[in-house]
Amino acid sequence: MDLDLGPEIEQFRAQTRDWVAANVPEGLAGLTDWTITATTGGYQSAALARAAGHPAYREWEARLAEARLICPQWPAEFGGQGMDGVRLAVLNEEFHRAGLPRVRRGMGESLVGPSIIVHGSAEQQAHFLPRIISGEDVYCQGFSEPNQGSDLAGVQTRAVVDGDEVVITGNKVWTSGAARATMMFALCRSDPDAPKHAGLSYILFPFTDPAVTYRPIRQLSGAADFCEDFIDGVRVPLFNVIGGLGNGWKVAMTTLGHERGGAATTAHLGFEREFWELVRTARERGKDADPLVRQQLAWAYTGVQVMKYSGLRSLAQAALGGQPGPEASVAKLMWSEYHKRLGEIAISIVGTAGLIRPDGPGYPTTQWQNVFLASRSGTIYSGTSEIQRGIIGERALGLPKEPRQPKEPRQPKEPRQPKEPQAADARG
Ligand SMILES: Cc1cc2nc3c(=O)[nH]c(=O)nc-3n(C[C@H](O)[C@H](O)[C@H](O)COP(=O)(O)OP(=O)(O)OC[C@H]3O[C@@H](n4cnc5c(N)ncnc54)[C@H](O)[C@@H]3O)c2cc1C
Repeated sequence: MDLDLGPEIEQFRAQTRDWVAANVPEGLAGLTDWTITATTGGYQSAALARAAGHPAYREWEARLAEARLICPQWPAEFGGQGMDGVRLAVLNEEFHRAGLPRVRRGMGESLVGPSIIVHGSAEQQAHFLPRIISGEDVYCQGFSEPNQGSDLAGVQTRAVVDGDEVVITGNKVWTSGAARATMMFALCRSDPDAPKHAGLSYILFPFTDPAVTYRPIRQLSGAADFCEDFIDGVRVPLFNVIGGLGNGWKVAMTTLGHERGGAATTAHLGFEREFWELVRTARERGKDADPLVRQQLAWAYTGVQVMKYSGLRSLAQAALGGQPGPEASVAKLMWSEYHKRLGEIAISIVGTAGLIRPDGPGYPTTQWQNVFLASRSGTIYSGTSEIQRGIIGERALGLPKEPRQPKEPRQPKEPRQPKEPQAADARG
């Protein structure tokens, strides 16, 4: 079903379609399947990266840049078009329909840029944002650490101010796309004596610095798309601290709001396509008349439609100028749990053949094996499903907070010592 979005939006759709037809370089659509859902760590990532090295892709990238169609949702003063959510969704739909890539700037576009726009100074905006649009700076996210994941405010990576520089030392982990990144945005502890959330700073630093080393971590799906990183005294100017020293938590919350809600309006496009591929697989295997399979497919189709309409609700909110709120957690919980279940359904449709990996170098997997394996990570990254449920319960539904662990019984007081500066309760 196509929604009637009004004459202005239909005119925008027609203009976009004409622009695409007039500007698409020959052969680009046929280079790869640009419309697949590239599950994190999935085998598709490599195919997409190969196709992105082709001259036709480079030409397309240049034309999009000229037309301000890279990061088009960013305000015009920062190099975008200030494109609203509805037009952005239409743009995505039209590129998807034509089988063409949208040319995105990854975490730079979706996470760092919006955070700099909200919290950065004019000088920081002028320096960092154009480098994201041009593709010069490619970001990876340095939030998680070996001992801190869900409890993000507990990060231990240190940022020590030295004159007009800050020196970063610590250990980050599960960093997606680290091997392709030239920059990291990291949450660091700049004041170990301040309350937990108040002692943090959000810092951008070159990931290519010789003081950074990393090692890839192989995933369940066979891909090794993320890494553990060792940061051994990287120096950057204080200019690279976004939002000011000690304000990192606020900036990180803007980043996370965009991470969880950002794809909500378009995620259904890839899932819809994948759903019809699964229907084709069921037909090929003679399972399409099986009542249980039909019921599972009906569940999946319903899920895609629910995602589509809740995405439109987020769009409506964005059109009114709202920032992503707890509804971002609803969207994240929904698509990730949907996709995990879809992977299970797909493997059950494929049957025992799903147990056998194809031959080939490395660790090849079939499409459905990959969806089954890689989709499991979706319920972990960007905040686990349990964390999203906590946010929905407490912040969206206003339920009482989860009981905290009771405090340790107080020890008998020691005789008073002269006062030293106190470390406040780390729970913040
Ligand atoms: C594919 C993938 C890509 C990733 N990419 C990145 C990246 O680029 N950058 C980055 O910084 N991180 C990345 N991560 C890390 C991810 O953000 C963390 O794995 C995630 O936040 C969970 O942290 P953890 O693994 O330490 O688990 P933990 O926080 O130790 O959680 C363990 C279990 O306890 C549960 N739990 C924890 N706290 C609570 C609570 N308060 N209430 C209820 N249950 C709770 C969790 O739900 C989980 O089931 C990625 C992870 C994956 C899987």
